[in-house]
Amino acid sequence: MPLSAMGEIIGPARAAGRGVGAFNVIGIEHAEAIVTGAEAAGTPVVLQISENCVAYHGALEPIAGACLSIARSAGVPVAVHLDHATTVDLVQAAARLGLGSAMYDASALPYAENVRATAGVTAWCHRRGLWVEAEIGEIGGKNGVHSPQARTDPDEAADYVAATGVDALAVAVGSSHAMLTRDAVLDVGLIARIRRTVGVPLVLHGSSGVPDGDLAAAIGAGMTKINVATQLNKVFTAAVRHCLGGDAAMVDPRRYGSAGRAAIAPEVARLLRVISAGPPGQRKPAGPRDGPGSPAVRAGGAGESLSPVE
Ligand SMILES: [Zn+2]
Repeated sequence: MPLSAMGEIIGPARAAGRGVGAFNVIGIEHAEAIVTGAEAAGTPVVLQISENCVAYHGALEPIAGACLSIARSAGVPVAVHLDHATTVDLVQAAARLGLGSAMYDASALPYAENVRATAGVTAWCHRRGLWVEAEIGEIGGKNGVHSPQARTDPDEAADYVAATGVDALAVAVGSSHAMLTRDAVLDVGLIARIRRTVGVPLVLHGSSGVPDGDLAAAIGAGMTKINVATQLNKVFTAAVRHCLGGDAAMVDPRRYGSAGRAAIAPEVARLLRVISAGPPGQRKPAGPRDGPGSPAVRAGGAGESLSPVE
């Protein structure tokens, strides 16, 4: 059960009107804590490795290997996904290493070139059993170029999905990458319109900036995969900062690293309870290890977060 195909996680969630939490990994501590949080919530989860994360580590293989290993021993279904890959080489590397899912991001290209490139990558991936996510226009905030005013056109989205064959579509509906405040205003009516025209699961990027109630509304309107990165980096770094600020003699990275990791797990569990709650009246009971306080987190090393995405 543990290492799962993205479609096995996303498909049932979409059919039930639930969301799936997809959290960006920075170091191994993030991956450990995200899975611990999902186990506490009793829900499936997605570990995402962005192209920026690959750049931080200098290669995909070490961090992918860690995520795949953690997923295989998880107590809940875990998919490992390549996030925001802008090169075909990186997608191919992900396939070679055993990731079952990738976002190919050609959104910086003109529309026709985006369609052509994405269709090619999607066909290549489908021959190897990979699930493919893509993006048309822009999700606000990425690389400082896009704005939260960006909007996906429902008819263009439908045409894009038909022309490329992708399995899921990231849409621009008011969220913005790397937000430090949770006050983004989503266009829930637009989500519902896109859901009516597009036959594949929809992905919300930049979900860190979206308040809990709006996440639930977005999922209720038809959003399925909910990408979160910055929110976890905020709680990780706050815990590390608190830890180091209280002890100038602390030098062991395991001390402050474990503090950061321990802070992520309950935030993941909390977000997953919001994301996976489903429509009112169908809310499932809390997970088996639900309760106050921090779930026990797997042992490990230390790290520091960089390169915010989502
Ligand atoms: Zn994104």
